Amino acid sequence: MERHQITGHTELIGLMAYPIRHSQSPATHNAAYEKLGLDIVNLAFEVDADDLEDAIKGLRALKLRGSNISMPNKTIVHKYLDEVSPAAKLCGAVNTIVNKDGYLIGHNTDGIGYVQSLKDNGIDPTGKKVTIVGSGGAATAVQIQSALDGVAEMSIFARDDKFKDNAIETVKKINENTNCKAVFYPLEDLDRLKEEMASSYLFTNATGVGMKPLEGITYIPDASFFRPDLIVTDVVYSPHETAMLKMARKAGCKTMNGQGMMLFQAIAAIELMLGQRVDSEYMKEKLG
Ligand code: NAD
Repeated sequence: MERHQITGHTELIGLMAYPIRHSQSPATHNAAYEKLGLDIVNLAFEVDADDLEDAIKGLRALKLRGSNISMPNKTIVHKYLDEVSPAAKLCGAVNTIVNKDGYLIGHNTDGIGYVQSLKDNGIDPTGKKVTIVGSGGAATAVQIQSALDGVAEMSIFARDDKFKDNAIETVKKINENTNCKAVFYPLEDLDRLKEEMASSYLFTNATGVGMKPLEGITYIPDASFFRPDLIVTDVVYSPHETAMLKMARKAGCKTMNGQGMMLFQAIAAIELMLGQRVDSEYMKEKLG
C-alpha cells in the first residue's frame, strides 16, 4: 500500500462510530483527498455514545477539519454541535460535522447521496409521485431529502415494529415543512402497496430487507407489483442486486442499488468539509 507522506502540515478528518473496523468510509475519503491533492488523512475512531461528548471536545481542541459520524452517534451528536442543517434537523440525524474555525455544523448527506445517485442514473422524481418503504435512519434521510428536493407526492410504508412511529413522524414533518404531500400506510396492507406502486414513478426499498441476515428475502409477494416503466431502487448495496431488484429487473424495470448513495453521500460530505468536489467517475473506478 502506497502511504501518504505525513508531515507537520498534514490535517486530520475522523470517522466516529462503533463498531467501525469494517467500514469502507476511510478508504473512500482518503482516495478522494489524494485525487484532490489535499494533505489530509481520514482515520476511523472507535467512539460510542459514552465517549462522544469527549470526542467532540477533542475534535474542537485538536482542530480537526471535521468528522464523519455513523451509528450509534448519528442521532445524539447534535447535542454537542453549534448548529445543525435544516435537513439534518428534519432527519433527526447527523452524519457529517464541518469545523468552521471552531464552529461545528452538523449535516446529513445520506439523503443528498441518494438523490444525487438518482440524478447520476438519469432518474428525476421532481414533481412526481414516489413510494418508499422504510422507517429507519436510511429511509428517513431518503424521504426527507426527496421531499425537500421537489418530489410532489410520497407514499411511505413501514411494518409494525419499533421504527413505525418514526415513519409516521416523518410524514408529519414532510407535510409541515415541504411542498410534498406524504401519506403513511402499514406495510402489512399489500393491496394498498400494489396500488400505490402502480401510480408511482419510482419505488424504493429503504429497509435492510435484502441484506444479511435478510439476504434473498423481499416483502414484495410477486412480479405483478412491477410494471416496466416503474423505476425501482434499493438502499442496500451488498449484495449488489437484492432479491427485490432482481425481480424488478426481470419484470423489465430500470433498477438502481445503494452503491451510488454510499458514494455520493461521501462526495457530498467531502464537499461540505473541504469545499471541493471529487470526480465521481474517478471514485467509481477507484473503489470498484
Ligand atoms: P435501521 O435499523 O435504522 O432501520 C431498519 C429498517 O428496516 C426499519 O424501517 C425496519 O422497519 C425495516 N425492517 C427490518 N426488517 C424488516 C422486515 N423483515 N420487513 C420489513 N421491514 C423491515 O437501519 P438503516 O440504517 O435505516 O439501514 C437500512 C438499510 O439501508 C441497511 O441495509 C443499510 O445497509 C442500508 N443503508 C444504505 C446506505 C447507503 O449509502 N446506500 C446508507 C445507510 C443505510
